[in-house]
Amino acid sequence: MKKKNKVNYWLIILIVLLAVILVLSRMQRGAKRAFFRTSEVEQKIDTNKVNDLKINQDDMKIVPDIDKNYLLGKVTPAESSKMTRVSNIYSSRDGLYMHKEAYEAFKKMHEAAQEDGINLIIISAMRTFDHQKRIWENKWNGRQILFGDIYATDIESPTKRALEILRFSAMPGTSRHHWGTDIDLNSLNNNFFKSGDGLKIYQWLQENALKYGFCQPYTPHGKERGGGYEEEKWHWSYMPVANDYYTAYINKISYNDISGFDGSETSSKLNVIKNYVKEIDPECKP
Ligand SMILES: [Zn+2]
Repeated sequence: MKKKNKVNYWLIILIVLLAVILVLSRMQRGAKRAFFRTSEVEQKIDTNKVNDLKINQDDMKIVPDIDKNYLLGKVTPAESSKMTRVSNIYSSRDGLYMHKEAYEAFKKMHEAAQEDGINLIIISAMRTFDHQKRIWENKWNGRQILFGDIYATDIESPTKRALEILRFSAMPGTSRHHWGTDIDLNSLNNNFFKSGDGLKIYQWLQENALKYGFCQPYTPHGKERGGGYEEEKWHWSYMPVANDYYTAYINKISYNDISGFDGSETSSKLNVIKNYVKEIDPECKP
């Protein structure tokens, strides 16, 4: 009996020892796992930090989240939360709309100009796709004269016809006027700005517009601006908002989006995004 008891005693000690070893080794493994888990988390955090840095470095390439329809002028300005109605204190006619921020900046610029004896009058502001379509098709179909005694319908080749209209008018879906950030001031005739009151207005804008965020996208063709629309001394753009829309536009809009009007098949042949939308004065570029 005594011998048997001794064997049992050692057996129990052995089992307890094995159990202790087992528990200890598990605890150690658990601690190791926990340690590695922490390391993984740390590694993840580090990767995030690196990604953050990458995003910061590439800020310029982040495409602003602007709806494609908005960029194409396919909105009703009276119903858009981004737009506001222009008071007829500032405009030649009723019913004009502008982007809210651009309008606030314009009001400040208008006030400063008044103090210098300059009266800035908005004659065109936000234009919808449909409005631009009317302008374009009136020219395309010969209902409106192009210049001199030339009608677009006198020109047989569709691309040549489009090129003549594109000297001063944008294709529907490609106008900066769709964005509400761009305005036409005082006169749609460059000659008006070459003498008298017109010259004073233009000189004032050249000296002061930038202080209020406005630039002239369509300066004369030359070294800095190789092509695109002809010079438009009347067209001014509110950069702080327009630059975002420009970046969104050139990243999101394709030639499939520039359709739904007479002659739209020429948009890709003439590469109007590259040759017109992007052909603006470097001062107006993001
Ligand atoms: Zn314009």
